Amino acid sequence: MRVEPSLDEPGPDRTIWINGALVPWGAANVHLLSHCLQRGSLVFDYLSVHRTPRGAAIFRLADHAERFLISCELVGLPLEEGASEVMDAIRTAVRANPGCTAAKVSAYLASLEVDVVPQDDRVSLAVAAYDAVADISGRKPGGASERRPTLRLWVEKQARNRRPDIVSPQAKVAANYVSPMTAKWKAKKAGYDEIVLVDEEGSLAEGPTTNFFLVDRDGVVCTPPRRRVLLGVTRSSVIELAKDEGFEVREVAMGPEAIADAREVFMTGTSVGVWPVESVDGQPVGDGKPGPVSLALKRRFDRVVSGAEPAYDHWLDYVDEPAS
Ligand code: PMP
Repeated sequence: MRVEPSLDEPGPDRTIWINGALVPWGAANVHLLSHCLQRGSLVFDYLSVHRTPRGAAIFRLADHAERFLISCELVGLPLEEGASEVMDAIRTAVRANPGCTAAKVSAYLASLEVDVVPQDDRVSLAVAAYDAVADISGRKPGGASERRPTLRLWVEKQARNRRPDIVSPQAKVAANYVSPMTAKWKAKKAGYDEIVLVDEEGSLAEGPTTNFFLVDRDGVVCTPPRRRVLLGVTRSSVIELAKDEGFEVREVAMGPEAIADAREVFMTGTSVGVWPVESVDGQPVGDGKPGPVSLALKRRFDRVVSGAEPAYDHWLDYVDEPAS
């Protein structure tokens, strides 16, 4: 008999905040026939938690909470909690789980449903705060694989990115990740680390969980326009930091051919920060090493999230300090 992998793994000693209570990691379950599983209707957001001289800090908590509520609204989940309750739940989960480096907040229909439209539309709210490697990937047989400092990117032209007329790219809902998952899985088997999907017009859009940037031959930092991609919190942070560093930034539609002319390419996301691209479709970008703009932005971003830049302190929510 096959053993369910998740039940076979010893869980970490952590608690997960569910509807107001902290429950042990292993007890944070939903039924197999729940709507969120069977229809992929779970809405989520993913935040990073950093160790700073002032203790644990959540990066841009209010922006993530706002995006989470927008995702719920786009999907139609009638979540009762508002932004301040969502933020409090995230803070509580982070405080209860020292050493966590990430927090995932989820809104989901835990009820067993027959139809696509739920009979019981009570929405559960949960927050897991953990370390992705120590608590999840590192516990699997073979352990966690190290993330490469630079990545090999594949331009996925077959499976198009999330379409606004199907499910908005702004909705972080589980079902929206199936098509990018299939495409990235194929690319990983072929030796790539990440993909960038094109939109229905064939323009570069985003990765499954990352936003796309390039530095053009004039040194301009370019990223696809807001309409067609998830508004990444890292994306907007990097745009602001790039302007601050004196770079020109353009949100502009680009075809895949723009990559051949680019000096640098990089991806951004909560789980990867600023991630320089070494090659695209097997062709090196520049000399295949991270370029000066990617490196400058990566360095700056890493300083900001670690609390080393007072000018950006307002992006950090220090959970161990009383609210001011
Ligand atoms: N695009 C998609 C589709 C994503 O799921 C993510 C991850 N949230 C991103 C881009 C990057 O966004 P962020 O910087 O907020 O993690």
